[in-house]
Amino acid sequence: MENKDLICENLSIDDNGVLNFAGVSTVELATKYGTPLFLMDEERIRYKCKTYLSAVKKYFGESSGVLYASKALSFKRIYEIMKEEGMGIDVVSQGEIFTAKRAGFPLKNAYFHSNNKTDEDIDYAIKNGVGTFVVDNEEELVVIDKIARQNGVKQKVLLRLTPGIDPHTYDAINTGKVDSKFGSAIETGQAEEITRLAVSLKGVDLKGFHCHVGSQVFDSDVYIMASTVMLNFIKDMKVKLGFITEVLDLGGGYGVRYIESQPNMDIESNIRLVSEHIKNTVKALEIEMPSIFFEPGRSIVADSGITLYTVGTVKRIKGYKNYVSVDGGMTDNPRFALYKADYTLLPAYDMNASREMTASIVGRCCESGDIIQENVKMPETIKRGDVIACLTTGAYNYSMSSNYNRIARPAVVMINDKKDYVAVKRESLEDIVNLDV
Ligand SMILES: *Cc1c(COP(=O)(O)O)cnc(C)c1O
Repeated sequence: MENKDLICENLSIDDNGVLNFAGVSTVELATKYGTPLFLMDEERIRYKCKTYLSAVKKYFGESSGVLYASKALSFKRIYEIMKEEGMGIDVVSQGEIFTAKRAGFPLKNAYFHSNNKTDEDIDYAIKNGVGTFVVDNEEELVVIDKIARQNGVKQKVLLRLTPGIDPHTYDAINTGKVDSKFGSAIETGQAEEITRLAVSLKGVDLKGFHCHVGSQVFDSDVYIMASTVMLNFIKDMKVKLGFITEVLDLGGGYGVRYIESQPNMDIESNIRLVSEHIKNTVKALEIEMPSIFFEPGRSIVADSGITLYTVGTVKRIKGYKNYVSVDGGMTDNPRFALYKADYTLLPAYDMNASREMTASIVGRCCESGDIIQENVKMPETIKRGDVIACLTTGAYNYSMSSNYNRIARPAVVMINDKKDYVAVKRESLEDIVNLDV
């Protein structure tokens, strides 16, 4: 019978009842490296890259591609893996560009996003040979043109547009609407204006358009709607300006399974569905078929990661509620505090124990909002020293971690072929005061 705790294929339970991740005992790794600890399954990251790349090449051709949205999880080892897998990357800051560069990632395959690139950011990215800028607005476009010309470069750009789609996800992570802080809206005429400007500038080489409609999307309808709007705009620009679009980048956003009730997405069949729609629409509109790009972040790394914690205080407030405190919290996973994100938490130390206590799993920060998850089922006997796991933490956890309360960031340990190695060291107390003068 299927065990409903095992929401991802890289989870299993060994003969001692211990949760294994990527074939390795979580309790052994917790003992070896200490907690809190991020574990990443390198084989699964590579498998996700291969799945996306092969589907995109198969349905859209060799000139199309996949860009890993590196804000989801960014450190040197990740960029090495992306380079080896033949992925492009999205970057949003000098820090991400610098990290990718240090990892030897070819920056010509990097796409520079962000709704507010400073003059310094733009100069840094151009000097470091970042291949493509995804331009958010006219003000930015003018500065890119100027700095590109100063550097003797014709900078490749895509324009970020807002197609006006509501993907029915949380407002906080909903980015395709007309009133979004990102991009230029098609509906208001701003998209046409920025396109006219882009084709007139000598320092930029307009390749096409970008949109990103949201996150944790399980339905291809969103991409189908977005691509319809984008392809109609592309047609409009062909008719009005004679502009031929070479690249259409449809952004990221495919969902992952945080809890059992969410589906496991079939990436290949979703990309096939989108491709059929795009090919038909291109034909009907009589436009040239652009190269198509996707920018998955979460769906590459989220279920390739879990977090291990050690239980500390267990507090039972009779007639009210129970708290299980762990040795991490919002400093390594702020997503419940930010937008009540769902997570599955499991008693990794004893997966066979019956779970009769309902508890809030809380962190160690001085904030009552420092909660990992509410209404979690845990064994009545859970106690100080037990190791528990929070699943699906590979995306937007380490990358959003902080030093609030001067808590050191956890290490990130990668597992490949059942062998573990440190990809990012645990922060030390010395690291905590490193910048203090
Ligand atoms: C965040 C983001 C992505 C990645 O989104 P996921 O939900 O992690 O796949 C891709 N493109 C852009 C522009 C983004 O802002």
